[in-house]
Amino acid sequence: MKTPLKRLLSASILATFITTPLAALAKNPIVDTVFTADPAAIVHNDKVYLYTGHDEQEAGKVGFNLNEWLVFSSEDMVNWEAHGAIMRATDFEWALNSAWASHMIERDGKFYFYTSVYKDSGPKPGFAIGVAVSDSPTGPFVDARGSALLTNDMTTHSPNNWDDIDPAIFIEENGDAYMFFGNTVPKYVKLKDNMIELDGEIKVLDIPHFTEALWVHKKGDNYYLTYASGLPETIHYAMSKSIHGPWIHQGLLNEVAGNSNTNHQAIIEFKGKDYFIYHTGAMQHNSPVGIGGEFRRSVAIDKLEYNEDGTMKPIVMTSRGITEPASE
Ligand code: CA
Repeated sequence: MKTPLKRLLSASILATFITTPLAALAKNPIVDTVFTADPAAIVHNDKVYLYTGHDEQEAGKVGFNLNEWLVFSSEDMVNWEAHGAIMRATDFEWALNSAWASHMIERDGKFYFYTSVYKDSGPKPGFAIGVAVSDSPTGPFVDARGSALLTNDMTTHSPNNWDDIDPAIFIEENGDAYMFFGNTVPKYVKLKDNMIELDGEIKVLDIPHFTEALWVHKKGDNYYLTYASGLPETIHYAMSKSIHGPWIHQGLLNEVAGNSNTNHQAIIEFKGKDYFIYHTGAMQHNSPVGIGGEFRRSVAIDKLEYNEDGTMKPIVMTSRGITEPASE
């Protein structure tokens, strides 16, 4: 009895595509030809560049399997162009595997890519942070140091060996650069002007209910620290008038995103509008890559809106995503 059912389903899917106007088709996840996780994004020359990990786990299997990072670009936040992989975890010769969450930032015409990878050597094997550099936002990227920027043994606040993941970089208007990072205990450290060396001690941040996935941005004179909280992860945020805090907890920004225990947000302003970029496990079974899940995540984008007092409105996650092209 399989065939008639399959035929019926195919006919019904076909009918949906034929009769539904393009604008009404679901746009979240934004890419359905590959799994994409842990988004980071920058704006450069009127384009958004989106960086993601590449979930390669098979359907039904357990565990993260990420080996490379991908880049996509868009001029309007609706249409996306894929540029392929910028780098593999093993392009850091000192790393064993695990292309986990990353962050990109531009400084003086160079693009610096900070990322979490697993390092199996040294005094305390575990997740480390590497930095790669390129003259182009789409690469090719090469290890900027030939060694890890930050290794597991350099922090001992928490016992897990993935406590130094999820780098997020912020550069102040005076040029001072900081790297925020951490799992279980949130931390930050100043970077030297060359962007590839630490400058001073690692400090602990005082924010409640922290799990991981720090992201720092500024709007007006407010600093925002967004992060994943609990497990399954929601996104919380805190605000400050200084990069050094004190950070005032503001509560929930986004709920648990469909079918994914983890989350990881990127926040950008582009052509006068604000966007919240995250991931879900909501890829549907009829996509070219099959069904999504905890280890088969996909990037989604929705609007971010601020209240007059600078606080952020809770994100409304949608399946339609961004439908209005960004324009100046
Ligand atoms: Ca550590």
